[in-house]
Amino acid sequence: MISVVAPVFNEGAGVERFVGRLTEVLAGAGLTYELVLVDDGSTDDSWDFVARQAMLDDRVRGLQLSRNFGKEAAVLAGLEHAAGDAVVVIDADLQHPPEVIPEMVRRWRQGAHVVEAVKRSRTGQGLVGRLGGRAFNKAFTGLTRVDLIDATDFRLLARPALEALLRLPEHSSFFRGTSSWIGFRRSTIEVDISERAGGRSRWTFGALFRLAVNGLTSFTSAPLHLVTMVGLAFAGFAVLLGAQTLIRWIGGDSVAGFPTVILLLLVMGTFLLLGLGVIGEYLARIHEEVRGRPRYLVQDRAERQVGTALPEQ
Ligand code: UDP
Ligand code: MG
Repeated sequence: MISVVAPVFNEGAGVERFVGRLTEVLAGAGLTYELVLVDDGSTDDSWDFVARQAMLDDRVRGLQLSRNFGKEAAVLAGLEHAAGDAVVVIDADLQHPPEVIPEMVRRWRQGAHVVEAVKRSRTGQGLVGRLGGRAFNKAFTGLTRVDLIDATDFRLLARPALEALLRLPEHSSFFRGTSSWIGFRRSTIEVDISERAGGRSRWTFGALFRLAVNGLTSFTSAPLHLVTMVGLAFAGFAVLLGAQTLIRWIGGDSVAGFPTVILLLLVMGTFLLLGLGVIGEYLARIHEEVRGRPRYLVQDRAERQVGTALPEQ
């Protein structure tokens, strides 16, 4: 059996279309499956639909988080509640074509543990988003050796890979990164990421920035080393400059250069603040891990036991 996990946050009418198309594809391919819909604290009627669907169809299970915990937490909740021999994580906004799932399952049956969908094209995103995404993925891949270029969250994990992933203890998980970090036999499929079926993306610039910082800090301490290196470079430069000034002073030159002083102060100040910021990010990270709060809280579940009657309407 395979489990399909989809995080749902204020998808409104879109989730109905999603479930329809998914059901058609999965049933059409003759797969035994369960669909785990995780409502990430939606404020619209998404949960009503999920709960109703779960009552009508015993292959559908709904999980409602107690508030909006973010997509990463919602995916994790779904993974922890999935019972299948393989789990497919897919967005509920129809940007990830469900038609690819049967091919993912085929690859899994051929022995792959992780089947990733990678972007062939990226539509429905502004130029800035596209360039930003690429730049981040490049930087991430370069710094961590975990390849994220063109990666998506749309992937299949076989049970062994899933168990490995769930053993990672960190709180601010970064699914795209961790599911690559674990290794295992991998396979990739190129897909076209389409436009959102409806509604709009919740990723504001701020949220994307947080995701990027989270992803980086949870995978590499390279920024910390960078701070050290730049600090060392500054120190070397300061020594040279000091020596030069000293030599000129001995030679009888009066020392001028007010603008230089201001400029150096600015550069140093900026770097100090940045360095503090970088350290702060890691400190915040540690703080979060040490508090050890649960990564999500479940408020409600909706599932119908196989063979039970439909509730009275
Ligand atoms: N999502 C979620 N919690 C959030 C934001 C998004 O569960 O706080 C879900 C959303 O319902 C969708 C998926 O995550 O199924 C991807 O979200 P979105 O389309 O906003 O992101 P994008 O496709 O732009 O990366
Ligand atoms: Mg989307």
